[in-house]
Amino acid sequence: SRDNARANAAKPAVTTKGVTIHVGANIGSVEEARAAAENGADLAGLVRTEFLFLGRDEAPSEDEQVAVYRAIADALGGRPIILRTLDAGSDKPLPYLPAPQEANPFLGVRGIRHSLAHREMFAEQLRAIVRVARETPVSVMFPMITKVEELIEARRLLGDVPGLRVGMMVEVPAAALRASDFTPYVDFFSIGTNDLTQYTLAAERGNADLLALSSGLDPAVELLIQNVCRAAGEKTKVAVCGELAADEAVVPRLLAAGVQELSVAPALVPLTKQAVRAT
Ligand code: PEP
Ligand code: MG
Repeated sequence: SRDNARANAAKPAVTTKGVTIHVGANIGSVEEARAAAENGADLAGLVRTEFLFLGRDEAPSEDEQVAVYRAIADALGGRPIILRTLDAGSDKPLPYLPAPQEANPFLGVRGIRHSLAHREMFAEQLRAIVRVARETPVSVMFPMITKVEELIEARRLLGDVPGLRVGMMVEVPAAALRASDFTPYVDFFSIGTNDLTQYTLAAERGNADLLALSSGLDPAVELLIQNVCRAAGEKTKVAVCGELAADEAVVPRLLAAGVQELSVAPALVPLTKQAVRAT
């Protein structure tokens, strides 16, 4: 029940077979970081750093980013945070960076493509992340990785940072299909089921007329997730950070595929933990 879930929110989520699954929160503000802690999140499995860059006249400075990332880490009280680099793009344009109009923004210059096209801003964000990582448990991950070359280039710009775990989002079918080609370059995969579903089913996310197509765990998406887990093997951790991860009918299928970590909206953490305990 919901009351039960709340009462147990702060406790670890352990399956009936005794496997502990970390349940994190997806957050996009310091306030949501506080909500994540209150709801018993084991970590911030996805920090959408876009919130810092949107709706303003200039990009946040390195110092401003450090201050906000630190505030998020503080709100989480020492639990790990996974900072995703800027996932801006044509559907989330930045007023201070001119971008050409695109007919299909979801297929356009977004995520890592955008960061690699704006190197200075990207380098500044990476410097801010590295600074915070020196004092608190931080991981970094890159959004919308499609080709291995993008990941290699992003890692080159990041540099060698001892102790910093580096991952990539798997949200483009090409990356899910070729997961084994990416494993040499990452410590973890984080599967973004919102975009992975959109791109696999050619069904725009958030389009109310397409909900019959795009809601729930589609068998084709499930096959991709299974492929990612197989490719990951023992060495590479696999998380799911899309909204799907909170669906109690879906959690057993994700865990059966080999997913080891889930991340959901802060308010859904207690129910997701209950779904794990029932698995
Ligand atoms: C996703 O695509 O599933 C995801 C978690 O990232 P976002 O919703 O920010 O695109
Ligand atoms: Mg996404």
